[in-house]
Amino acid sequence: MALIVHKYGGTSMGSVERIKNVARRVAKWQKAGHQVVVVPSAMSGETNRLLGLAKEISERADPRELDQIASTGEQVSVGLLAIALQSIGAKAKSYTGWQVPVKTDSAYTKARIESIDDSRVRKDLNDGYVVVITGFQGIDGNNNITTLGRGGSDTSAVAVAAALKAEECLIYTDVDGVYTTDPRIVPEAKRLEKVTFEEMLEMASLGSKVLQIRSVEFAGKYKVKTRVLSSLTDPDIPLAEEANSGTLITYEEDETMEQAVISGIAFNRDEAKITVAGVPDKPGIAYKILGPVASANIDVDMIIQNVSHDGLTDFSFTVHRNELEKALEVLKAKVQPDIQAKSITGAKDICKVSVVGIGMRSHVGIASQMFETLSKEGINIQMISTSEIKISVVIDDKYMELAVRALHKAFGLES
Ligand code: ADP
Ligand code: ASP
Ligand code: MG
Repeated sequence: MALIVHKYGGTSMGSVERIKNVARRVAKWQKAGHQVVVVPSAMSGETNRLLGLAKEISERADPRELDQIASTGEQVSVGLLAIALQSIGAKAKSYTGWQVPVKTDSAYTKARIESIDDSRVRKDLNDGYVVVITGFQGIDGNNNITTLGRGGSDTSAVAVAAALKAEECLIYTDVDGVYTTDPRIVPEAKRLEKVTFEEMLEMASLGSKVLQIRSVEFAGKYKVKTRVLSSLTDPDIPLAEEANSGTLITYEEDETMEQAVISGIAFNRDEAKITVAGVPDKPGIAYKILGPVASANIDVDMIIQNVSHDGLTDFSFTVHRNELEKALEVLKAKVQPDIQAKSITGAKDICKVSVVGIGMRSHVGIASQMFETLSKEGINIQMISTSEIKISVVIDDKYMELAVRALHKAFGLES
């Protein structure tokens, strides 16, 4: 007997029929003798619908109220799933984040989990209940409801698994594992049986939305055994078969693993580029531009400074698209009076494409192969950044799919 956490995403919870299937799957695990905690997301489309309502009233809604609204999608899901479980004879009880409680900081719409009280959940498990806990939400020190950012139910599930010291966290989703790239963009993408924690962390941070980045960070910090697998198989398939399906995140580099140099291609359309053109090229300029941006709590990703002409240079960086307007306001109000740039402009028509693989550490020439592939397709590279196990480029958004397909092929990732 083991304690297992299941997480089901929006599509997996997308209809009453699907919720009934989730209940059957969960009941199968419980009947096999396991204690099960389930963390579902809101039904697909629901979080967008809720946030859309707020947006109809105000483009700049108070983040506290947005969390108040967005968190309700998950509350409906846990109740429905508990009823579905009860209706097939399983004892089940649902909880929202504040009831557990799942404590977070107060960063509305992107809160971080600080602690999870496991006492109530443990008692219920010992009394034979399946415990269903809302994904995506928590409560701050002043009893305000918070949410963990889009896709945050993954993080809830892994954090719950860590708090309960669960044997495994199973992330059930609408694909049957982690692929070499998004199978919606490249149908030839191949499922990975295993992926190292480091690679998964890079892929998630670079835009592979199959797992929220913070869930991978949590998994790594607490060494939570985590597997991504399909919720769309027949819920009655043998448990042993299900338990070994999908993609396992591993924490040791396995010598016997057939190690490809590149394990995946990620892309991200959520960033925007800001260019501060015609600024004096002298010490302190990067700080003058980025200091106020950081003080406004805006994350900066890629940065590039061009060679200077006549003592002037252009400075570009990327931020999340949702923060573009805010960043431009900060620059115009707090930076421009000081630096007197020729222009400050924002562009949303960019995307970031990255190749990821721990095999890169021992191989040279990956960057040049990447640049050659893009150049053969006539795709201009606007920015580049590298780490030990990834290379990212910013390109024109309209070439995103072309670039991903070409790179997937060039690095031999097809099945
Ligand atoms: P859920 O609602 O279950 O959380 P998501 O939509 O958040 O599901 O994540 C699953 C989706 O992630 C898949 O449908 C797929 O399109 C996308 N995806 C992006 N990159 C990858 C990848 N490398 N492997 C698998 N899926 C990926
Ligand atoms: N329902 C939330 C979202 O749509 C959280 C999640 O699905 O993980 O972002
Ligand atoms: Mg998700």
